[in-house]
Amino acid sequence: MTTSHSAALPDEPTFTDVLEARRVLAAHLPPTPAWTYPVLNEAVGATVWIKHENAQPVGAFKVRGGLTLLASLSPGQRAGGVVAASTGNHAQSVAYAARQFGAPCTIVMPQSANPVKAAAVRALGAELVLRGEHFDECRRIAAQLAAESGARYVDSGNEAKLIAGVATAALEMFEVAPRLDALFVPVGSGTGAAGACLSARAVAPDCRVIGVQSAQAPAAYESWRGGSPVQRPNKTVIEGLSTGEAFHLPQRIMRALLADFLLLDDTEIRAAQRLMLVAAHTMAEGAGAAALAGLLARREQYAGRNVGLICSGGNVSEAELSAVLGTPLPA
Ligand SMILES: *Cc1c(COP(=O)(O)O)cnc(C)c1O
Repeated sequence: MTTSHSAALPDEPTFTDVLEARRVLAAHLPPTPAWTYPVLNEAVGATVWIKHENAQPVGAFKVRGGLTLLASLSPGQRAGGVVAASTGNHAQSVAYAARQFGAPCTIVMPQSANPVKAAAVRALGAELVLRGEHFDECRRIAAQLAAESGARYVDSGNEAKLIAGVATAALEMFEVAPRLDALFVPVGSGTGAAGACLSARAVAPDCRVIGVQSAQAPAAYESWRGGSPVQRPNKTVIEGLSTGEAFHLPQRIMRALLADFLLLDDTEIRAAQRLMLVAAHTMAEGAGAAALAGLLARREQYAGRNVGLICSGGNVSEAELSAVLGTPLPA
């Protein structure tokens, strides 16, 4: 079955759009750090560069996209407000950007939303609507609210400005670590991976961009493999990777440019989270450790090589932290 929301698909962003996003973002966000950690390098058997998007003001890379998109709206569009649906980090990104640009903001989250992320959205001044079982349903509710009020619906995947904005994370990574053999990127909707592909093609064409998704929510992976967007069961506990639908715009870019795509079990991602904690002094959320889980699955192929990991976020609830501490380190 093909997915909805495919009408009026925007044009793909170009690298010029990525450079424009970087100019816009320079006024709002400093570059995030990228570090390599000897204990982690030893554990993995490669030189591993971690791009710390967990150090963003909302705790995740998505804020690059939200700010880029809000900056592109006219004053009239901003006054009309924005609406978004999210399990958490897209919500915080749009709410943060809306506050920066003085736009009213409504966020739809599942009833079961991570309380840390829900509290953060409220604190940013957005109106929070807790409705729907999970993300895919929230997305439909948000689009409907926007249609009723005339606000701008900000999709979490099919938005060229979001992709151009988040592409700046990989661009910064290549500036710090220009000789990467591979860059592992977590995939939910695919904006982060699509953006990384655009930046890699322009400034690091020899670097393989590799996507990582949960085997418990494989819609993007199977769409990429099969060549057309499909829906799949969405059972992952890894919030940032939780989607049952594929998003057409990032899929189109990934189909052309992504070198490889890995599916990993949620338990492997939790184990990588534990390793990030003990070997890289980093409290990553599950999605933020998925890239490391991907590298661990390919450690023989990348032994002795230079590898980048996008640590996409660090918004961990206390319940999740307890789960991580109860998880064994990777074998
Ligand atoms: C949204 C998110 C992802 C997935 O990014 P997409 O652009 O949707 O593929 C990964 N990690 C974190 C922390 C996220 O918030």
